Amino acid sequence: MTFRRRVFMVLIALVVLIESATFVAVLNTTRSNIFDIAIQQLQSGARVFDSAIENRSRELATGVAILASDFGFKRAVSGGDAPTIRSALANHGARINADLAMFINRDGGVHASTAGIERNSFAFPELLEQNAVGRIVELNAEAMQLVVAPVRAPELIGWVAIGFAIDDALARQIASLTALTVTFLSHAPGEDRVLASTLAETDRQGLTRATEGTTKDSFDDSRILDTGALLGLRHPVPSESSANLEVVLALPLAKVLTAYYELRTRLFVILVLALALSAGGARLLAGTVARPLHRLASAAHRISQGDYGEKVAISGSTELAILSAAFNDMQDGIRQREQRIVHQSQHDALTGLPNRSLVSDRLQYSIAASKRYARQFSILMIDLDGFKGINDTLGHAVGDQVLTRVAESLLERTRANDTVARLGGDEFMILLDESSPQHARTFAERLVDAAEKSVDVGSMKIRIDLSIGIVNFPWHGDTEEELIRRADIAMYIAKATDNSSVAEYQIGQDEEHLRRLSLVNDLRDAIDQDGMTVHFQPKVDLRTNRICAAEALVRWQHPRFGMQSPDEFIDLAEKSGLIRSLTRCVLRKVLLQLRAWHIDGIDLATSVNLSALDLLDENLPDFIAATLTECRLPAAYLTLEITESAVMRDAANARSTMKRLRELGIRLAIDDFGTGHSSLAQLKSLPVDELKIDKSFVLGLPKSEDDSEIVKSTIELAHNMGLSVTAEGVETTACRDLLRQFGCDVIQGYLVSRPLCVEDFSLWIRARLNERDTCMIRPELPAAGPNGVFEDELSTSAA
Ligand code: C2E
Ligand code: CA
Ligand code: CA
Repeated sequence: MTFRRRVFMVLIALVVLIESATFVAVLNTTRSNIFDIAIQQLQSGARVFDSAIENRSRELATGVAILASDFGFKRAVSGGDAPTIRSALANHGARINADLAMFINRDGGVHASTAGIERNSFAFPELLEQNAVGRIVELNAEAMQLVVAPVRAPELIGWVAIGFAIDDALARQIASLTALTVTFLSHAPGEDRVLASTLAETDRQGLTRATEGTTKDSFDDSRILDTGALLGLRHPVPSESSANLEVVLALPLAKVLTAYYELRTRLFVILVLALALSAGGARLLAGTVARPLHRLASAAHRISQGDYGEKVAISGSTELAILSAAFNDMQDGIRQREQRIVHQSQHDALTGLPNRSLVSDRLQYSIAASKRYARQFSILMIDLDGFKGINDTLGHAVGDQVLTRVAESLLERTRANDTVARLGGDEFMILLDESSPQHARTFAERLVDAAEKSVDVGSMKIRIDLSIGIVNFPWHGDTEEELIRRADIAMYIAKATDNSSVAEYQIGQDEEHLRRLSLVNDLRDAIDQDGMTVHFQPKVDLRTNRICAAEALVRWQHPRFGMQSPDEFIDLAEKSGLIRSLTRCVLRKVLLQLRAWHIDGIDLATSVNLSALDLLDENLPDFIAATLTECRLPAAYLTLEITESAVMRDAANARSTMKRLRELGIRLAIDDFGTGHSSLAQLKSLPVDELKIDKSFVLGLPKSEDDSEIVKSTIELAHNMGLSVTAEGVETTACRDLLRQFGCDVIQGYLVSRPLCVEDFSLWIRARLNERDTCMIRPELPAAGPNGVFEDELSTSAA
């Protein structure tokens, strides 16, 4: 039930309650008033009745006295002539309208009577003694008011009695005086009889039914009589008969209650009208109470739908008005908070730029709009190069400032309807609205140039290099996901490309990218599930022609794509963060293999390649030390090859890791020397033992004079710095001879052997042992090294 309905119901219920209580009370009071008045009327009727009877008694007494003293009558009595007495009685009785006259002789017998009851003895002898006046008796089934007087001449000769009948005439007479119905009842046990009445026959019966069973003694208690049709008052009539006589004075109830019924009808009409009026009022009141509540409720509903625009207007100073004011305040509060939350959820806290979620919305909008109006737009994916370095070396506060400056400078250069967003970290994105591919590229190049001119952070000037990938709609995709992914790919390509910081996505690049992604997953599985293998390639000492060491080279047999080139998957491992676990996996395999060979009597110093990122792995030295201990091998068994470019990338960190490795007793070699831009002078400060000249200089020997020159001088300089020199990629004897002539210490290449799997390498080296044409040397161990040195000369198999 609605609130409004409930208020209405309660009000109506109250009105009905009050009205009916009033109704009942008024009716009851009125009814009892009316009854009181009626009873008073009945009582005064009784008094009228009493005085009428008394009047008649007096009349009778006068009449009877006149008769008793009448001379003629006395004479007639003295004569004892009955007919004469009878006619005298009749004449006299007629004169005073008496209904009965009789003469009673001295011995109590009725001598003469107008009613023909002679020769009987008089039924009421006590009346004679008392000379009673106006007594009522029952005679011949009729009530009669009798008066008795003695007749003297001068002594007593008898009595004369005159009576008035208590009959309908008397009843009518009293009725006309009192305006009441009058009924005379003879009340005998077992039977009540109506002697005279002004009532109709049915009412008479009703009356006797109501009085039956009550005795004269109980009259006093039940004087008021309600027959259903009549309201009566029972009034005893003093009488001499054995029957009890009473007069019932009554009013028809219908008449008594007329006024009551009228009032009742009127009250009822008033009640109905009042109820109708109250219903209207209650409706109105319920409305005024409920309407503002209703308004508040619908406002609350509106707010829950996120519509805060409308104010709830309830005027005045009522509680509801106060509530509505509070409601409006709350609505404002919610709106502001929501705006703040929406803003926070769509913007980057540091730079205030739209975040990924907002730019995604805008991008979707641009795609839809550009499709509809056949327009073009571009996305620039921007990444700061080396931002991590800035953060690490200058601190996060400076890093934050750099990001803020970059955000500002990007904003300065874009138009109002372009979107500059920060996607997170050092990644930004620009949505160039209605832009051509040419514009996008020149715009990106301008951004790169501007950033390179360095940004001011406090008192510092920091040079920022940007890498920007570009995709153009509609050429490079038509979904958000596709465009973003390809912009990312273009950006990574821009980062990886040395000569340009801006790359536009080229069709097909992301398929390659996806292939690499799936390769990464496979590579992770291979590393975790022992799917990697290691091949070994021997190194030969040119002075002794002995096998002096080997290089371990990792191999990956991909279940679907076959043998993978390490040049590719190492790069993949570096970019996907897998390189550390790959390096540890290779190191462990190699050391376990060295241990196995040692048990088999083959002792061989082996080099393992490290990647640039391994040099940043602070735990690597500890890992190697622990693995060496586990395999019970001295550190001198292990050489680590580190590329020149890896060392140069982060010289400070690289140097400290290299120092720790060197302290463990591990030998260090600079790999691929000549391909980086470092000079020997720069390497001088590094704790290395060996230099490996890159195979790109060696493969051309002896034909290329340039390469010969480079190799020759590199060997000389390295020797001057106390480094041993290894040449890799030696495929011919001519090359070997030239290198020997230049004073190179060690060679490695297909001339000696291709990299071999463990089984083949074991066979290969064992064959050299058995044939005694191969020589193996142990690593130069500290004093307590293992024993057994093979002195034999090495005759090169490819010769
Ligand atoms: P790298 O360290 O310069 O390894 C020598 C590469 O030259 C090997 O290629 C080897 O097979 C090849 N090679 C050896 N002798 C000759 C020759 O006479 N002529 C020619 N043309 N090539 C020769 P591979 O095995 O494909 O390895 C490529 C590169 O992958 C390695 O270059 C190394 O940088 C990297 N790499 C291999 N294994 C690992 C590893 O376990 N960890 C790390 N971080 N990098 C590795
Ligand atoms: Ca190497
Ligand atoms: Ca190399």
